[in-house]
Amino acid sequence: MIIALPKKFFYSVGDRDMAFIENNILYVEGRVNFEDLMYSITYSLKGYNRCKYCGRELLRNKRTLDHMYPKYFGGVSIPDNLVPSCPSCNSKKSCLTSQQFYHWRSIQSTDKRERVFKKMLEQNMRKIKNGILLPKEWITYYDISKVIEEISFEEVSKAKEANERVEMFYFQYQHYSKPIIVSNNGWVFSGFHILYHAKRHSIKNVPAIVLENVVHLSH
Ligand SMILES: [Zn+2]
Repeated sequence: MIIALPKKFFYSVGDRDMAFIENNILYVEGRVNFEDLMYSITYSLKGYNRCKYCGRELLRNKRTLDHMYPKYFGGVSIPDNLVPSCPSCNSKKSCLTSQQFYHWRSIQSTDKRERVFKKMLEQNMRKIKNGILLPKEWITYYDISKVIEEISFEEVSKAKEANERVEMFYFQYQHYSKPIIVSNNGWVFSGFHILYHAKRHSIKNVPAIVLENVVHLSH
């Protein structure tokens, strides 16, 4: 997918430029912290002054980025899935999608709100059992023999808990709860535990979001 990008953007760590945009393409260097980079791009695109949900002004130390498709249900950290939000809206929204949250907020009665909240969570659980909650057009299936890995799988294999979560989910539903994120030249930015699991079980294709307008510059 083509992700939303600002016209101009530079991302530096210390005195090193790690990412920049030229002609609507994002070039990323080295082992960048992908989530941090995406947060930074989102602020540059969407500003950071107002909460998207309640319109409240956001104080410097009290601003968050909300995942419109919640992280808990496989929501990924890309600008298309992130909006500036106040901590209060972010925590009230919890595991609802943005659309569900708008609806939930419009309900007056507290009792009904509670019931609807529960129902929506159940709905999301059901959807995730059949696949991924994210829009279908974002996802493609990626041949993992083509990926370029940023970190060694030995490093990944040490994170026991995350591996177990992926393993359990796959064991239960025969698919993954979220996609991996890949640049247009096959560099993996996110989803190492999924890759690790897929490789160990000789699974050849995994769900992926391929960032078509992002190029990784490897050295
Ligand atoms: Zn708010």
